[in-house]
Amino acid sequence: MAFLLLNKGMTAEEKTTIARFIDLAAAAAGSGYNAGEPEYHFLDDIEPGNGDSLERVAGDVCACTACKLAESRKNAVPGEGSQQPLVMVIGEGPGADEDATGRPFVGRAGQLLDKMLASIGLFRESNCYIANVIKCRPPGNRDPQPIETDACSSFIKRQIQLLNPRYILCVGRIAGQALLNTSESIGRLRGKFIDFHAGEKTIPFLATYHPSALLRNEELKRPAWEDLKLLRSALDKALMVTSRDI
Ligand code: URA
Repeated sequence: MAFLLLNKGMTAEEKTTIARFIDLAAAAAGSGYNAGEPEYHFLDDIEPGNGDSLERVAGDVCACTACKLAESRKNAVPGEGSQQPLVMVIGEGPGADEDATGRPFVGRAGQLLDKMLASIGLFRESNCYIANVIKCRPPGNRDPQPIETDACSSFIKRQIQLLNPRYILCVGRIAGQALLNTSESIGRLRGKFIDFHAGEKTIPFLATYHPSALLRNEELKRPAWEDLKLLRSALDKALMVTSRDI
């Protein structure tokens, strides 16, 4: 019944609040139409650039119940960093440390990621934004399922639109495959810029190995370093400055 009363132009969070209110009111009035705990699966109607904001995305992420991961999460992890980033770094999804804190890449892999970024003059405090394609932790750190990646995909799209980064650095196979809608291996996706289409914009997109993979396999460190150098030299050219100036 609540669904009939919801207008276009609302966020999933707003729709959920209204639906919950209507259900509660109906239950209190004793209509009995809603026995048990209802589940809501609303999606946002809002188009990026149409009143959208990073705060709104974060609110929607934290209120999201579109897939089962919402049931087991401690915290959803929207993302963090500069709101006008040179580079948007996109990983797979939260692990245990990120789930506990609500912040992206704060565990062991995150510490390595921070070092990798710092080595080319990038910092989440000043010129990078860090987010994941999946905003809630898959239990036991399993790979996210396609249904979960699909349910989450509007969030990262909105974030890319809003942040409009100069470059995207994607870490790991899962994020690369989800963002580029491909089943290509990370070994084939990495090492080159790919055009990423975000609405009317085209953003140069570079994939590299996930820092967790580097922690497991030392041999991947050299190609990952080559990727970082490629990004650094593209940034230098784009900004026409030396790395010391950023
Ligand atoms: N791995 C990811 O892909 N993202 C995080 O936020 C943490 C670990």
